Amino acid sequence: MRFDTVIHGGTVLVGGETCKADIGITDGRIAAIAERLTGGERRIDAGNRLVLPGGIEAHAHIAQESSSGLMGADDYFSGSVSAAFGGNSSFIPFAAQHRGQSIDAVLETYGARAAPSVIDYGWHLIVTDPTEAVLRDELPRAFARGVTSFKVFTTYDMMNIGDAGMLDILTVAKEHGAVTMVHAENDAMVRWMNARLLDAGHTEPRFHAISRPELAEEEAIGRAVALARLVDTPLFIVHVSTAGGAALVARERQAGTRLYAETCPHYLAFTRDDLDRPGMEGAKFVCSPPLRDRETQQALWAHLQAGTFDSVSSDHAPYRFDETGKFSKGTDIPYPKIANGMPGIAARLPWLFSEGVVAGRLSLADFAALTAGNAARIFGITGKGALLPGMDADIAVWNPEARHRLTLAGQHDNMDYTPFEGIEVTGRPELVMNRGEAVVADGRFVGARGRGRFIARKRTTLSGPGHRAKELDPACNFGAHIAP
Ligand code: MN
Ligand code: MN
Repeated sequence: MRFDTVIHGGTVLVGGETCKADIGITDGRIAAIAERLTGGERRIDAGNRLVLPGGIEAHAHIAQESSSGLMGADDYFSGSVSAAFGGNSSFIPFAAQHRGQSIDAVLETYGARAAPSVIDYGWHLIVTDPTEAVLRDELPRAFARGVTSFKVFTTYDMMNIGDAGMLDILTVAKEHGAVTMVHAENDAMVRWMNARLLDAGHTEPRFHAISRPELAEEEAIGRAVALARLVDTPLFIVHVSTAGGAALVARERQAGTRLYAETCPHYLAFTRDDLDRPGMEGAKFVCSPPLRDRETQQALWAHLQAGTFDSVSSDHAPYRFDETGKFSKGTDIPYPKIANGMPGIAARLPWLFSEGVVAGRLSLADFAALTAGNAARIFGITGKGALLPGMDADIAVWNPEARHRLTLAGQHDNMDYTPFEGIEVTGRPELVMNRGEAVVADGRFVGARGRGRFIARKRTTLSGPGHRAKELDPACNFGAHIAP
């Protein structure tokens, strides 16, 4: 067999187990995995290294305007370079519809924005305006071109599509095999809290943590799950931050609901005490849902270990600590005016490897599933997320023992801070490949601007019993055929 590249002598994760093996790569794909492979135009020594699937970042905001028009700091070049330094071989940022926009126009805009990407990419489509044309023609068209996940919001004035809008999206998703994602927080509870806190003069960043109660997340997850159960179609809950929300997810999964969920490193790494740092420093930790308390953090870890979550995603939302980002509405502002979001696309994998695998909380197989394999399965990426012959050679070679500090200087995004500043971690991705080409090697960017390709994703193949609501079952609804 002819190989372009052979990765030689590494400890390779295959099918959930590790073994000493060589990986032969030909034309961007894994051609063979065997104890010993000869040849290869290029041979890479992976002795004392772990060879893992390249990360798939499934939640990142890149070159995306917020609903108020504020553009994040990272474009598809800085965002993808940063992702690659963090061990990722591909990512799925969002393409966000603003009200009045057609989905076709959204995809055209993001198509142009994504051109400089250095790794493969897809988009989750954010739907904020589910008009008749969007539901009937534009979403099916987006689906047909490989954009097979639709995200909706239950909060934020310009994004909240309400229960009726969510039912409409879920129905289209069911028809086509798309996955619906939801940002779940009860909007009225948040408004009620904000009004009370501001009336009482509680404006400092720490009150952000209080303003979005755990119950707001729990209620909205429960409601979204009920809507998805009525339509009987898969649902993915993004950024679960509460013990109550996670318990609900676990219970529903146990009952056969096709329900998927992620949490994020910041809910595992930080607490609301970080919002109480001096002056406006807490603004660096303002994100929604907010950071919670220590007990919640421990509960989220327990759920992560118990299998409640499919993914750990960064929710990279880069707003600089200046007037272009966090303080676009002023420097001395009450917490609701601080731009929401934290950067973390490059910290996700090293931090989770260190606190998960090295600390003994997660197995290596868990780590790979949570950072790549499950996202590929849930979001319909057929050729990535595992090391198997025939798959894309999306590979990260890790030094599992390298100790280093996460610092702003070590980042490659366009940010002026990292919330992980000074945190020491063990384990570093030294070589990151996408389709057999090195993008990052030995701490240097060696890829090329624009080499990333669009990933046309497939219909999801999620299995499971699901639920058939009685009222939709012709056997017990007087024979009404009102759902597929
Ligand atoms: Mn969100
Ligand atoms: Mn987000």
